[in-house]
Amino acid sequence: MKKKRNYEIIKLLVVIIGLSGMLFSFKPVSKNSSKLTVEERIDSIVGAMTLEEKVAMLCGNTIFSSAGIQRLGITELHYTDGPFGVREDVEKHSFTPLRSITDSATFFPTGSALAATWNPALAYKYGTAIGEEARTRGKDILLGPAVNITRTPINGRTFEYFSEDPFLNARLTVGYISGVQDRGVVACVKHYAVNNQETNRGRIDVKMSERTLREIYLPAFKAAVQEAHVYTIMSAYNKFRGSYCAENDYLLNKILKNEWGFKGFVMSDWGGTNSTVNSALNGLDVEMGSKRYFTNALLEAVKKGEVPVSVIDEKVHRILRVNIFAHTKLIAADDDTIVSTRVHGKIAYEIASQSIVLLKNTANLLPLDFKKIKTITVIGDNATHHHAHGGFGAGVKAKYEISPLEGLKSKVGNNATIQYVKGYVPKFTPRKGRGYGREPINTPDSALLKEALEAAGKSDIVIIFAGNNHDIETEARDRKDLTLPFGQDELIKAIAAVNKRTIVVMVAGAPVDLTTTNNNCSTIVWSWFNGSEGGNALADILVGNVNPSGRLPFTFPAKLEDSPAHALNAFPGDSSVTYSEGILVGYRWFDTKNIKPMYCFGYGLSYTSFQYLGLAADKANYVSKDTIRVTVTVKNKGTRGGLETVQLYAGKPDSKITRATKELKAFKKVAIDAGKKTDVKLSVAVKDLAYFDEKQMKWVIEPGAYLLMVAASSQDVKGSVTVKVE
Ligand code: BGC
Repeated sequence: MKKKRNYEIIKLLVVIIGLSGMLFSFKPVSKNSSKLTVEERIDSIVGAMTLEEKVAMLCGNTIFSSAGIQRLGITELHYTDGPFGVREDVEKHSFTPLRSITDSATFFPTGSALAATWNPALAYKYGTAIGEEARTRGKDILLGPAVNITRTPINGRTFEYFSEDPFLNARLTVGYISGVQDRGVVACVKHYAVNNQETNRGRIDVKMSERTLREIYLPAFKAAVQEAHVYTIMSAYNKFRGSYCAENDYLLNKILKNEWGFKGFVMSDWGGTNSTVNSALNGLDVEMGSKRYFTNALLEAVKKGEVPVSVIDEKVHRILRVNIFAHTKLIAADDDTIVSTRVHGKIAYEIASQSIVLLKNTANLLPLDFKKIKTITVIGDNATHHHAHGGFGAGVKAKYEISPLEGLKSKVGNNATIQYVKGYVPKFTPRKGRGYGREPINTPDSALLKEALEAAGKSDIVIIFAGNNHDIETEARDRKDLTLPFGQDELIKAIAAVNKRTIVVMVAGAPVDLTTTNNNCSTIVWSWFNGSEGGNALADILVGNVNPSGRLPFTFPAKLEDSPAHALNAFPGDSSVTYSEGILVGYRWFDTKNIKPMYCFGYGLSYTSFQYLGLAADKANYVSKDTIRVTVTVKNKGTRGGLETVQLYAGKPDSKITRATKELKAFKKVAIDAGKKTDVKLSVAVKDLAYFDEKQMKWVIEPGAYLLMVAASSQDVKGSVTVKVE
């Protein structure tokens, strides 16, 4: 009880101090005050610094810190990966773990899982929890969220990122960052920008139209800066229009700093700096992961007059702004009750339980009915596999991770007996040369298959936990295709042939080819790399304690070649890649080109069903400064309470320009009790219907009629209304 109260007090302190710190750094205190404003304090500090001290701040002094100035009482800044849990501590100058016993953390669901909740309030909670753990571990800067658009389903980092849709992406980004920074920790939105593949990421030159850049790839970063006031941003490894993102004047100076008014600092990705003078002049503030360009070489460049001192001063100003925010916070930093507390576990659980997507349930095998089920055979490596580790900076040394099998055993209890057989195990071909990830062997293991078939044939129900792991989905390489590794397709087909009552649970962070599973099984559940509490959340869905409410944050294509980048042969490129699909990314492509996906963006079933009634807009005509308010009544027709995600898409059928058939403009996740109905209000600012006009280089609202579609997924439009914009 006392412990809980202490914890609440600390939490409150952090919030109050965090908020005041934020105000402090962005809104200077009044001139009448005897105190200096933050900007005045920074001016006086910079005035007292030598050139050497200034330059020393512009580079990591260890792998995860950058220098302060001891003499002036400015402490160094401590960074940590990653987006899904505070990373284990590593050696000063390498990623080698220190193997300490005090550096474990809560493993939170990875990016695509959080996105599948379609719940920005949960993204906020996520940020607060991870922020508290970062602060307790003495970290100032958390290297997340990772918000690059899912351009192709085979990007190795799809599990880290949120979505193929810029609007959903931006809403989650703002929630996450606000949560972290409200706890007094600096967030770092990454990887700016257009880092949408791992193949050749260190040299690929990405090209696309200006409209595509503005409408698809930048919105989450812009929202991070302008709505969430993010303090730091990480540049990407790749090039954009000929220059590396860490030395890209257009992205860093022109758009980020001048146009959006970003006041914090830009750090390079680790080892992602490629020059001294260009990087310094074109907007990079801190070199991280290497010490080659912004140390002595930069000092020399300043002395030679190639980089003006004013440019260095400006960078130091930015760093001090961040530093003051980070060090204005007070928290009982060594109070280890905050790391991985039950409170954080509950948040991880809540996110996981809202992320799981019920893809198919045609035989109503779910939720499990223990009146009919006394024996369960559980099959598959992913029933027991832990996914916290691996995937580079995305890895977490989890304090604990409940596997699906553990979760199931505890939730099923005495209702049924569970027998576990492996069915498949991850096997790889011998590694050839250097490189990341490993090549899976995709043929079934005949002995394991035989054992699984025998067990499956004798039980009331079978649950196969299939999918990927971080040898398959990882930073630094893309998958070759969507194939389920380790011969899982053959396993699933064979098991379903001996027991029709087979449920397949996919544990993966990115789409896989579901053709075989779909053709052979009546029941498919999509789980993710779902954090410390993933197994509990999944089991609660399977036994029916929780009604599934996750919705897909990206399209699952029927085959890879249906995806725009692959259909157009615009992936991966060698030295350069042109995004020739333009704005038609994800469902925008599938809808507009009439290609049926396997499962569409926004899709997910529930154990109940919802009916949409009476859609109306508040007016018929709008002007550019208006907000369109739409109301729809949603009724829960079943006998079980549930959460529905009401989605609002806009289209302009008579548009003079190329447009997607529909674009997501608003959504709301609502809880509705069995048999009850509720009015769901959604709003869209008219300015958000604008497109980016490349000739005028500005956002333009095309006048005329717009179709507003209320939908349960991108392919399931429940009603529409036409409004006019003048
Ligand atoms: C990744 C970043 C990560 C950094 C530090 C890089 O390779 O791209 O996302 O934060 O390493 O681990």
